[in-house]
Order: sequence, then C-alpha cells, then structure tokens
Amino acid sequence: MDFAIPPHIQDMRATLLEFIEKKIYPWEKEGFEYDEKEFPRCSEDHPYIRQLQQEVKDMGLWAGHLPREAGGIGLGVMEYGLLNEIIGRSYFAPRVFGCNAPDSGNAEILWHFGTEEQKEKFFWPVQRGEVRSFFSMTEPETSGSDPRNLKATAVRDGDEWVINGRKWYSTNANGAGFGIVVAVTDPNASTYRRQSMILVPTDTPGVRLVRPISVMGHYTGSGHWEVEYDDVRVPVENTLGQEGDGFMIAQSRLGPGRIHHCMRWLGQAQRGFDLMCQYALEREAFGGPLAEKQTVQNWIADSATEIQAARLMVLNAAWMIDNVGQRETRVEISMIKFFVAKVMMDVLDRAIQVHGGLGVSDDTPLAFMWRQGRAARIYDGPDEVHRMVVAREMLKKFGGHRA
Ligand SMILES: Cc1cc2nc3c(=O)[nH]c(=O)nc-3n(C[C@H](O)[C@H](O)[C@H](O)COP(=O)(O)OP(=O)(O)OC[C@H]3O[C@@H](n4cnc5c(N)ncnc54)[C@H](O)[C@@H]3O)c2cc1C
Repeated sequence: MDFAIPPHIQDMRATLLEFIEKKIYPWEKEGFEYDEKEFPRCSEDHPYIRQLQQEVKDMGLWAGHLPREAGGIGLGVMEYGLLNEIIGRSYFAPRVFGCNAPDSGNAEILWHFGTEEQKEKFFWPVQRGEVRSFFSMTEPETSGSDPRNLKATAVRDGDEWVINGRKWYSTNANGAGFGIVVAVTDPNASTYRRQSMILVPTDTPGVRLVRPISVMGHYTGSGHWEVEYDDVRVPVENTLGQEGDGFMIAQSRLGPGRIHHCMRWLGQAQRGFDLMCQYALEREAFGGPLAEKQTVQNWIADSATEIQAARLMVLNAAWMIDNVGQRETRVEISMIKFFVAKVMMDVLDRAIQVHGGLGVSDDTPLAFMWRQGRAARIYDGPDEVHRMVVAREMLKKFGGHRA
C-alpha cells in the first residue's frame, strides 16, 4: 500500500481547501443563522449556495462520489476519501460540492441498482442538484441497530405497492422530491430477503411529514423528520433492484458511505485541532500563552497522534475496498466507524476546553461541530454494534464462533 497522495489529488485538495476557506467559511455564520431562523426553509436552497454549486460544476468538481458516466469525477474510494477530508471541514461544503448525505448515498444506489426509467426520473434530478431526497429506514418502534425487525410494510395490490408504516430520522425530508423507503414486502422470506427499497415521491397521497425532530435543541437545514406512510400507493416499477433486495442494497450503500463519513469527521477534527492550536498560542493565562501549559501540550500531542492514526486507518480501509472489495473490508470499516467518531469528539472536546467560555458559545464553529458530531456515534450503526462486529471476527480466530 502506497501512502503517498497522488499529485492530481493533492492539486484537487488544494483547490478545494482554497475554495472552502475563501467562499464557505466566511458565510458559515450567516448559513447557520438562516437554517436556524428560517426553518423549514433551508440553506440547501439559499441563493448563495446555489451560486457556489454552479461555480463547483464549472470547476469540474461536482458530485465526486459518482463515476464519470454518472456525471461525477470518477475517483476510487481512496482518492475520493482524501477529498472528503477537505470537504468535511465545513458543514456546508458537501452541499456545495454535490455530495451531501443522504443524497450522495441515494444517488449511488440509484445509479447501481436503478432501471433506466428510475435513473431518468429519480437519479439525474438528484445528481444535478435540482431535487433532494431522503432515506427512510429507521422506525421509532423498532431498533435501528437491528433493521431485520422493521415493521413498515408494502403489500402488493395489482401493479402497485401499498405502503404503511412510520419512520423517523428521515434526514433531508424537508422539501425533498422523493424518499427511498425500506419496507417489508415478504414477511415469510428468509431474514435478509424480507425487505425491499421503494421509491416514493413525497407528494404521493398518504405521505405525511409528521414533525421535524429537534436534535440537541436545534433543527438544522433540511432536518430529520418523522414521516408517516398511510396507504401510500406507488407503482411496482418503483422497486429499487429486485423485490427482497432491500437489505443487500442497504449494506452496499454503507461501505463506501462510511469511508466518506469518516474522512469528513477527520476534516472536522482537523479544523477543531487547527483552532485549538491557534487559540492556545494567542490566549494568555497565568503569565503566558496556554500553549506553554503542559496539559494543553498533551491535548495537542494526543490530538495530532489520534488524527494521524485515524487517517491511516481510514485510508487503509479505503484502499482495501478499492483492491480486495467491500466484503473483505467489513471489519476494517466497523473499526473506523467507531474509532474515528470518537477521535472527532475527543479532539473537538479538547478544542472547546482550550477556548473556555468562547468554546461553548456560537462565536466559533466548535460548538456547532460538537453538537453535529455527537450523532456520528449513533447513525450508520452505533459504536456498540460496530464493536460487536469487530469482536465477533476476532473471537472467530480463537474458535469462538458462537460469539
Ligand atoms: C442525526 C441522525 C441522522 C439520521 N439519519 C437517518 C436517515 O437519514 N435515515 C434513516 O433511516 N435513519 C437515520 N438515522 C437513524 C439511525 O440510523 C439510528 O438512530 C441508528 O441506526 C440507531 O438506531 P436506534 O436509534 O433505533 O437505536 P437502537 O437500535 O434502539 O439502539 C439504542 C442503543 O442501544 C445500544 N445497542 C444497540 N445494539 C447493541 C448491541 N448489539 N450491543 C450493545 N449495545 C447495543 C447502542 O448504544 C444504541 O445507541 C439517523 C440518526 C441520527 C441521530
């Protein structure tokens, strides 16, 4: 494995960073306030974000997660991971670069599993940034960690599915054109063939956005929504992949998606780290800058080391997906999912501590980053589930198959 960053990726990283520092950082405060005060309007549709999106398209950096034939840049998982470390630095950057979750993951599965008609109707509008989408799997009444037990159903009636159920945490549902709904289509099938993914336009009768979920006291942008499906009828041709493919497609969505997430979290950690170092040099207490206190130096040293360890682990997992495949990388993906989320939270926590009262105010991006970051230990599988995957695999080597 070669750890050198290829020159074309280095150039792209430099271009992205310059763009983000010049055009996105200075607008962030206004963007946060817009999302907060104008809710349910959201920054995704703000004219300034639209303007930046056009600039990114003109620069040829739009939708980096997609292959060239799908209008993307056509990078491998590792190469794109390296870009995500830069894109992750600002909450608004993924929107500007056309790779915001869950649109990015939805676009990937639509491209890989969609029919030509589905691509025309659902994929391309998302790819162009004209339509937003949501992914509706988690339910309030069942454990999202163990999605084998989902309750929402889709029952076939002639050429239509009739969908009933209640979901929550459908991120991005506010103002979205459609959702990808995961529902049980055959309760008698084997565990992993019971569910299907179905494309549901948001204006279909029976789809109701019940409420936005306030997360740590805030509604951000397109929000996280509770959504009710009450006798929702859509044509059977809206099934993504084959009937019963729901679990398999969900798994395929999560592998590269977790690499993207982890690299973005490292971008957040790195930004928090940079702010911590700058402030530690600037702020004086007890006769000298904070940077001269050994405790603060320990935080800086620990943070730098943890970020570097996490980065190498993510790049290793990305390299493995590119070279040996996603299935063989299962354990490494689980390792980085919980490890990197913790590194991000630890680094941000130290950065906040070094800033004192300023750290918990909204005068720096740190408090927002920490608030947003906390959920990283929960979505895409909580820490404990990924630890379980890793531990099981480790124990197998010692004959512990029942674990
Ligand atoms: C900000 C945010 C955005 C989200 N976006 C989406 C989205 O767009 N679409 C969507 O469908 N879902 C989304 N989710 C939902 C997310 O995927 C679920 O919250 C997650 O899968 C956990 O499921 P749960 O909340 O039902 O927790 P549960 O499954 O009920 O688990 C609760 C807790 O139990 C513990 N636990 C679970 N299993 C084990 C185990 N085996 N061993 C030990 N402890 C365990 C963990 O600590 C876990 O946190 C989002 C969630 C958040 C917070």
